[in-house]
Amino acid sequence: MVISIYTKYRPQKFSDLIGQEIVANTLRNTVKMGLVSHAYLFAGPRGSGKTSTARILAKAVNCENPKDGEPCNKCKFCEEIKSGKAIDIIEIDAASNRGIEEIRELKENARYAPSFLKYKVFIIDESHQLTKEAVNALLKIVEEPPSHVIFIFATTDPQKMIETIISRCQRFDFKKLSISDIVKKLEYILKNENIPYEKDALEYIAVFAQGAMRDAEVLLEQIIYSLHEGEKITKDLVLNILGGVDPLFIKELFRTIVNKKFPKAIEILNSLVTKGYSAEDIAKNLINFLRVGLMLKVDGSLSLEDIPISVTSDDIEFIKSEIKNVNLRYLYNVLDLFLEALPKIKYAPVQQLPLELAILSIFDKEGENSGKQ
Ligand SMILES: [Zn+2]
Repeated sequence: MVISIYTKYRPQKFSDLIGQEIVANTLRNTVKMGLVSHAYLFAGPRGSGKTSTARILAKAVNCENPKDGEPCNKCKFCEEIKSGKAIDIIEIDAASNRGIEEIRELKENARYAPSFLKYKVFIIDESHQLTKEAVNALLKIVEEPPSHVIFIFATTDPQKMIETIISRCQRFDFKKLSISDIVKKLEYILKNENIPYEKDALEYIAVFAQGAMRDAEVLLEQIIYSLHEGEKITKDLVLNILGGVDPLFIKELFRTIVNKKFPKAIEILNSLVTKGYSAEDIAKNLINFLRVGLMLKVDGSLSLEDIPISVTSDDIEFIKSEIKNVNLRYLYNVLDLFLEALPKIKYAPVQQLPLELAILSIFDKEGENSGKQ
């Protein structure tokens, strides 16, 4: 059986977690000091490591020989949890089991002592999707949990959760992973697997995954399977397999707009749509670039680690050099116009029309301004 990259390289201890150092260190310290809470809320974007962290925590509190708050990953309890077969670790996906019946079962189960481990750990994924009745049924046991029970509520959308549950939980906020966080992990995997790669190829994978580690690992796996013996992972190969708008075209479009070459910009836009790219994808990519442009205009020293947007380090250098001759106001106006155009694409009789109008409207404004000077 082929073990998936995602499973093989799943973080097994707090120090394995990439990009969530604050959460990881705090949890490790609380375990070390024996300050285990009975209800946790893990809030954060998709693929940021919430479920992996929940499993590490479940191991750490049950481990026979924890070291510095980390699970040993060797004792029978760690092994049992790692195997995914521990009956005292109950994972529930609230997106598909959101009803009152499942919660009644859960409550019933929680009353009994664990059969093997020290703590029974309930990991409730996408917990904002539980129905109101289900949450109400849960409330009492979360308020007064048996001493052998730990609840971990994971959610991408904490605003949708009921306050009474949140207030009972120790809350941890997971941040969206940066491109360089994801590249770090992908590099680690490839070095381990002895697969040669170009670093910017990995940045593109991370960009495609939009900050979700799991998605990046699944994409990497897809690419690895397509490789011939000894073949290197290159940027071209990645673009070829993953599809999407070639960043070279977006750069060209960005350059013409920033340099106020409007007829040329419309020409490029039309040629991209003719090539089969969707106007929506083009707009989103361009908006990304403009947003980074604005950030760099405000602080030119920003680097890949500081920018929470899906761009590569190459893109950042390119954007930096292109925006030298325009002011903040111009970039702001252009971004604003494209943002306005984006939702209109869906209803436009010709998909690129809203973008063309946005470009023309910048042209118009610029004409007015130069007339006043
Ligand atoms: Zn252990």
